[in-house]
Parts: sequence; structure tokens; C-alpha cells
Amino acid sequence: MTTTAFVGGRILTMAVGPDPEAVVIEGHRIVAVGDRSLLAAWPRAMIRDLGGRTLCPGFIDAHNHLSIAALHPRWRDVSRAASIDDLLEEVRFQAVAEPDAPWIRVCGWDEGPSGVRPTRRDLDRLGLERPILVAHYSLHQGVVCSHGLDALEFGRTTPDPEGGEIVRDPDGEATGLLMERAWGVAHGLSLQGYAAPDRWGELIVARAEQLLRQGITAVHDAACAPEAEAVYASLAAAGALPISVVVMPHAAALLHNDPGSRLDGPPTGEGDEQLRVGAVKLFADGGTSIALDVSIQGQSLRFGTTMDDLEQHLSAATARGFRVAVHAMGNVGVQRAIDAFGAAAATAPDDEHRFRIEHAGVASRAQARALAALGAIAVVQPGFVDHVGRQSGGVSFDEHAWLPFRDLAEAGVTLAASSDDPCAPFPPLWCAARGADRTTGDGQRFEAEQAVDFEAWLRAYTAGSAMAGGQEGERGALVAGLRADLVILEGALAPSPPPRVVETWVGGSPVFVAEAPG
Ligand SMILES: [Zn+2]
Repeated sequence: MTTTAFVGGRILTMAVGPDPEAVVIEGHRIVAVGDRSLLAAWPRAMIRDLGGRTLCPGFIDAHNHLSIAALHPRWRDVSRAASIDDLLEEVRFQAVAEPDAPWIRVCGWDEGPSGVRPTRRDLDRLGLERPILVAHYSLHQGVVCSHGLDALEFGRTTPDPEGGEIVRDPDGEATGLLMERAWGVAHGLSLQGYAAPDRWGELIVARAEQLLRQGITAVHDAACAPEAEAVYASLAAAGALPISVVVMPHAAALLHNDPGSRLDGPPTGEGDEQLRVGAVKLFADGGTSIALDVSIQGQSLRFGTTMDDLEQHLSAATARGFRVAVHAMGNVGVQRAIDAFGAAAATAPDDEHRFRIEHAGVASRAQARALAALGAIAVVQPGFVDHVGRQSGGVSFDEHAWLPFRDLAEAGVTLAASSDDPCAPFPPLWCAARGADRTTGDGQRFEAEQAVDFEAWLRAYTAGSAMAGGQEGERGALVAGLRADLVILEGALAPSPPPRVVETWVGGSPVFVAEAPG
């Protein structure tokens, strides 16, 4: 077994106590952490001089849609389409590239910069004989053509699904735009053509290798369809999964709270360090149609989509021994999550629930305190400062903050950090920098009082995320006995510019070494 001792740089253990001088790893594990004198006990250790760089635990992206992001290379990215014609051109390319796919799917639609809002009539003009789905970058809405509506059996008289909308024109005809759960059904159906396990597995491995280059050694797949769970299981059984994965069970129809027979399967905590079952993923409100009830300079503003079956499915999951994670973007969603957590806690007061709230995108200080009182962990996305900041148009609410990272931390809520890949960029150090400097992509400061300092984000990406995933006994800190999943960072631990990942180690071996900057 190889033994390696890291010395000569800052060592961020993410555990209590002063920074140590040395970390010794042997095989897959960390075996000793302390001052240099402990090296005497490890005479055969190879000494690895950090040269003034920083050693910290591998990053855990606690909300990453790896199984969906993995498929993105198969789809044309329409995020840069500047006009309807540009977008249609991409759809045509996609149709030619995959003549046998049951659905023609393109990804990354973002109406924000371009104002491009396709309708089914636009898509029908292509004259293609298959359903088309233009997926929004948020994975919370999309546009289908007429064949798509037919495949979904969304007709003129079909009622909107609860928690979603089949958007219609003034004459009552569907425009093709599907919001929230109406989109989630289209997502699930279009994915069936991509569920061939071998190919999907190869794409997951390729995506995971990109994550490793940014220091991510574990992810929580934050809405994992049963088919994706099966792909992960076969990769893990073959020893072919490059990073550790916590699967968060969810129906194939995205945003739908009923996991069906999955509750009969292995509960939260089952598995091993490579592949483990996490919390069941549930939704309290929409993602683009976030549920808000706020005021702006005394003027009240209410809108958005709530998922009214949250409580029912949350209590079903906890009764079956699962932990739960609730998506809540708007403050109405956050309140529903708080209330549902409270009800579950009252039913089983002796259990350790470790509730996860995903995003907590808009919340008040009172809500932050309520989450702290429940012992909930906030799985937040510092990188959202970029696009949410741009979309907010500089509008602030009277009692509620956007991306209230500081309020949550000050209330005593543990922060776990994540990207929401592929809905936003995944590099943890870039995301951490946005959470620390609260600067958007167009250079504006966005609710700067909610900034959390850079090193706190490194803690959130390691110890915080490990807590969210029930992994604190295996990873997330440099402590003897835990996995030797490590990153080495070069540069100051500050947002501008952020440090860069120069090495990533998994299970005691280097899996990524950056080239020296040219
Ligand atoms: Zn997500």
C-alpha cells in the first residue's frame, strides 16, 4: 500500500481545531493528521510538498443532475440562438444527427438574452414527423410541436396537471409551451429514447471526468429517475464510476412528487461509499414559476406555482424510512417546506430527519430561523448569484432576500453547496466566488449583504454537503479514517480571482493533475 504525507502548505481539514502541518494517507484512507512530528511514525511515507498550496477535502456537489447533464452532449445546445430561425436550424441539425431518436430534443433554451420564445407553430414549420422538445436550461419548462402534444395526449380539453400548465392562446389552443409539471411529463417521455444503459453509462462517466477536473469527487444526483439509478448501479458494480454518487430518488416525470413503487426499494443510507441512496427529492413550488408572496416598497406581489401534494408524499417517504429533500425556490415554497418538515418532525420526534431544503431561493429571516430550529440543511447554489441576479432586474423585496445565504448561515442553518448542473455552471471555485462577491455575470453586485466568505463556501462544498448526504462518516473532512478524496488548490482563497484546482485525488490516487499554466 502506498503511503503519502502532504506537508508544506495550508491544510484545511474542515474539522474543529487549528490547521495541521501534515496529512498522511495510506491506500484509500486518511490515516493521520497533525503536526510534522507524526511523520516519524510513517518512515516509509512518500513526502509530498504542497509548495505553499492548499490541501482540502474533495468537493461534494450536493445538487447536481449528473444523469441528465450527462445526456447533454447528445442534444444541440440552443442557448445562443439569437432568433427563431437560428433555433429551428439547431432543431434541424438534431433531427439529422439522431434520425432514430423517438423525440427530437434540443437543450439550453434561454429566452432571457435573446427574447426567443418558440411556439409549436414555429416547430411545426420544420415539417418533421417526430415530436420535438425544446428544453429550457432550467429544466422547469419547454416547448413541444404538435406531434409532441399528441404524444403527450395534451389536447384542447386536457386540464392542466396539478403543479403545471399547458399554456394556451386566447382561443384555448395549446401554444406548445409547457410549464413545470406539464413539462416534466414531456421530459420523462423524451428521455425514454436515451435510456439505453451502456450508452448512458458511458456519458455519465465522461461527464464525471469533467467534474473531477474541477475538484468534484462526489455528487448528489438531485432527481434521479429509476432508470438512471439502474445505470449508476451497473457502473458501480463494474467498478467504473469515477466519482461517488448519492442518488436522490425521483419519478421519471420530472417535478412529480409521487415516486411510486420506488418507496418499496432501498431506503436512504443504503449502499456504500461509491453509490448510496440519499433523500427522496420532492418539490414545493416551481422553478421558473417560483411561488412568491412578497412586497416591494409596500406593494404586494403574489404569483407562481405550488405543488399541493408535497405534504402527502413527504409523509409517505418519511414513514418508509427515507429522508427527504424539498425544492423550494420562492418564499411560499420555502414556507410549505417548513410546514411539511414540521409535521413530519411532530410525527416522529425521536428520528434524526436531517431535512434538506434545496435552493431556498427567496426567504425571510424568520424562515431562516424556522429552518434552523428544524435542524434543516440548506442546499444552496452560490453560482445562482450570476443568473438570478441578472433576472431580478435589481428588484429587492421588503422582508425577503434573494439567495439569502448570509441570513441562513447567521440563523444557524448548515449550508451545503452545489451547482444544479446542467442548469448553471458547475465549477465549485467559480460558484464559491459568486457566493462570496455576489457579483453577476454583467458585473453588478446583487444583494451584497447576503455574501458569505470564500472559505465558508469551501466548508459548504465539503463538510456541509457531506452532512446533507449523510456522508460525514466517510468524506467531507481531512480526518483519520475518512476517504482520501482530496483537492490541491493554487492561489489565494478569495473570490477574485478564485484559486484553481491543480490536483484531484480519489481514494488515495491522483486522478487529475492540471498542466502548469503556459
Ligand atoms: Zn435542480
